[in-house]
Amino acid sequence: MWTDLPDFDDHEMVVLCHDAETGLRAVIAVHSTLAGPAVGGTRLWDYATEADAVTDALRLSRGMTYKNVMAGLPFGGGKSVIIGDSQRDKTDALLTAFAHRIEALGGTYVAAEDVGTGPADMAVMARVTNHVAGLPERGGDPSPITAWGVYHGIKAAARAAFGSGQLTNKFIAIQGLGHVGWVLAERLSKDNARLIVTDIDREVVENAAWAFGAQPADPDEIHAVDADIFVPCALGGVINPTTVGEIKAGVVAGAANNQLATPDMGAALHARGILYAPDYVINAGGIISVTSEIEGTWDRDLAMRRAQDIGKTLTEIFRRAHAEGRPTADVADTIARERLAALKAHREAMV
Ligand code: NAD
Repeated sequence: MWTDLPDFDDHEMVVLCHDAETGLRAVIAVHSTLAGPAVGGTRLWDYATEADAVTDALRLSRGMTYKNVMAGLPFGGGKSVIIGDSQRDKTDALLTAFAHRIEALGGTYVAAEDVGTGPADMAVMARVTNHVAGLPERGGDPSPITAWGVYHGIKAAARAAFGSGQLTNKFIAIQGLGHVGWVLAERLSKDNARLIVTDIDREVVENAAWAFGAQPADPDEIHAVDADIFVPCALGGVINPTTVGEIKAGVVAGAANNQLATPDMGAALHARGILYAPDYVINAGGIISVTSEIEGTWDRDLAMRRAQDIGKTLTEIFRRAHAEGRPTADVADTIARERLAALKAHREAMV
């Protein structure tokens, strides 16, 4: 049974899209609409097989349900993937064919940018459907809001781990100085934190050394430097069986998606006494910005205030994890499932 697929996890709907004329092959996965319309990005990626594309869509879509419910947003979780190379295969005709499929779902799923797509692609799709966000002339790049949420998440984690949210003279190792990492580094340097930074782009590291007095580190060693807080802001899978034993920081709290290479890494961090800020909770600033755009109320200050509340959500997770002696990653999943169960009970009571 396809419902027995490990990543299926009770999805409400999975749509397989095909268009012979443009060569479109895409998957739209709607995990849950309990909280509201499913929102999640459109990824354009050169998957090796169609099965890989379906698996990725299912995994990412469930992740969006958890992210949105933990951020307290009136939106469910979904994700879409288009099979193709974003340099070679992305055309207006392909995006338009895909947008027609989204339109056919009547608002059950709302798309936004993701890996391989950007605001300009969303603008192409918006010519045929309103169910698309992240448009250039509206909320725009959500990264500064993401960085603001991560900053407050780091402070909450410091409070839980070290007894104070003060970051002055704390050694903070940042992996990745891109859209989120750079803005975060700027903010942390204003707090007089001692930054250790890396990126595969040497120039941006030199710029950070100059701008923030940051100490450069090797990209392969950043997770293992002597630091109080390790902040992954580049790739997924950075906490893996090789790196987990090498981390010296007492806290892992950063923007990167899917930081845990495997689910057992949450327990591995816990066993080492390292406090982990679950990635889908701490990095929700971006979706907070995108969904306020969908609600038609995009307001920078409001989005910033909502992103700041990420610190409170994390504090709740840290308290419960401490009280129950459980990994924070497990506790976040439990709270997300509890919130979904409450939404389901509420919906059933209304029928
Ligand atoms: P980005 O592409 O702008 O920046 C990533 C940076 O990491 C780049 O400067 C890149 O050179 C660097 N990098 C890549 N591989 C590296 C490596 N091996 N070692 C060190 N640096 C490396 O991306 P971003 O928008 O800043 O997002 C960063 C992370 O946060 C991603 O995982 C993204 O999925 C996640 N995230 C971003 C947002 C957002 O609003 N932008 C929201 C939620 C989650």
